[in-house]
Amino acid sequence: MKQYDMIVIGAGRASNLARNAGKAGKKVAIIEKDRFGGTCPNKGCVPSKLLIGYAEVARNIQEASRHFIDATINHIDVQKIFEETNAHIEKVDPAYRAKFNENVTIYKGEASFVSNYVVEVNGEQLTAPKIVIATGTRPVAPPHERAWTSDDIFPLKGTPPKSITIVGGGFIACELANFFDAVGVETKLLVRNQRILGNEDEEIASIFKEEFTKHVDVDFDTHIKNIAHDGKIFTLALERKNGEEGEHKSEALLYAIGRVPNTDTLKLENTDIQITKRGFIARDENFQTAVEGIYVVGDASGEHMLQHAAAMEVNHLQKVLLLGKQEPYTFKYMPHAVFTHPEVASVGLTEQKAKEQGVEYIAVSKGWLASAKAQSLRIKYPRTKILIDPNTYAILGFHLIGPHAATMMHQVLSIMHLDNDIRHLKEMLYIHPALSEALLPAAVKAVSAVNLNK
Ligand SMILES: Cc1cc2nc3c(=O)[nH]c(=O)nc-3n(C[C@H](O)[C@H](O)[C@H](O)COP(=O)(O)OP(=O)(O)OC[C@H]3O[C@@H](n4cnc5c(N)ncnc54)[C@H](O)[C@@H]3O)c2cc1C
Repeated sequence: MKQYDMIVIGAGRASNLARNAGKAGKKVAIIEKDRFGGTCPNKGCVPSKLLIGYAEVARNIQEASRHFIDATINHIDVQKIFEETNAHIEKVDPAYRAKFNENVTIYKGEASFVSNYVVEVNGEQLTAPKIVIATGTRPVAPPHERAWTSDDIFPLKGTPPKSITIVGGGFIACELANFFDAVGVETKLLVRNQRILGNEDEEIASIFKEEFTKHVDVDFDTHIKNIAHDGKIFTLALERKNGEEGEHKSEALLYAIGRVPNTDTLKLENTDIQITKRGFIARDENFQTAVEGIYVVGDASGEHMLQHAAAMEVNHLQKVLLLGKQEPYTFKYMPHAVFTHPEVASVGLTEQKAKEQGVEYIAVSKGWLASAKAQSLRIKYPRTKILIDPNTYAILGFHLIGPHAATMMHQVLSIMHLDNDIRHLKEMLYIHPALSEALLPAAVKAVSAVNLNK
């Protein structure tokens, strides 16, 4: 049996840990069954955001008339867009493998546990006192063998479809539907109920719904009853909540209905590692599982399912394992964004969650139009929604919808990172009239609301 100081299972974000452990002189084994780099650079955040870049340019041209500009798109080379994206993806795996020094042994294959500290890969057994599980998630399998998930378009095999039906109402479904629609692929999004981006604050989700559906054809309250494929085209039998039935045809069918953990591949039943009801791996504040020395980071824990969360966890675990730091790690806040048209960014509690949890809060909401830069965009919907603790001025939730919402959110995150007091956002000096200034009226309103309440 081969003996290592550390075994890392899953070469997504945790490949950085393997690299740095190798640099620190540890003998490391890293096991990956697919492409090194994991979901984010190969089939997640990065390629999906590369696509959004093309979509944004197309949307600007499509919406140019509101600036009194008569513009039409002559042609969008969707094939070229995918070739460029595929070319980016091709570089990821070799770039990640090249990061490791001679102390790191690469195993290409599926790892599973033989016992607590013994892992098997390609028929070989390895052991280490420290094992890091970072096996991420995979898309819920679609109900038809010819249907795609996001994994099947990164990289896209074959030619881009002329029409696509996408199933789902979450961020992956919306981002992909926006891309395909923007670049001229006939797109339909099917959502089971009336909720789209249903985890966002209701006020923001309702603005999103109104704006998003101006471009993308969305059938709400609809599910697919039957799928037929004749070798070229899908024929979908649709059923609506009110009992109405319909039919829709498209070249491609893509499901984005959620993700499941890869923990079922690990034979955890051979260990004392505990899993949660949803099949993710249970852990403590140091990311340690029920077995001493075995850790879990990233999506495999099911806690945040975001790349920046996985990155922070890997950084912390690195300090625990390489520097002996034993402080438990808890996130002060966890932001996210939806890179669609319109863009959404959010951190903390939504108003519905605050109510559900019985949290004391003051909510304020304000448009962006006091800002000249926001006015220059010639759109009315951008909005800031803030939930504040009436006793401490702490930001409990901050939600944005509008161009560059994710970028704008960082001024809020800086404050939350330091001492989380909304008054800083009111009192700081802004560059006039940068778009960031559009958040100022909401901050002023929030501080006044708290003062009035005292
Ligand atoms: C389309 C899409 C868009 C996204 N966009 C964003 C975004 O904009 N922002 C954001 O923050 N997050 C986004 N995410 C989520 C983000 O990609 C994940 O949160 C992140 O990749 C998690 O990293 P990880 O290292 O935990 O897991 P992963 O990157 O999934 O890595 C896990 C690795 O483990 C391997 N593996 C699994 N089981 C085994 C086994 N038994 N043996 C060996 N190897 C195994 C897998 O092959 C995989 O390579 C997106 C995800 C998708 C799908």
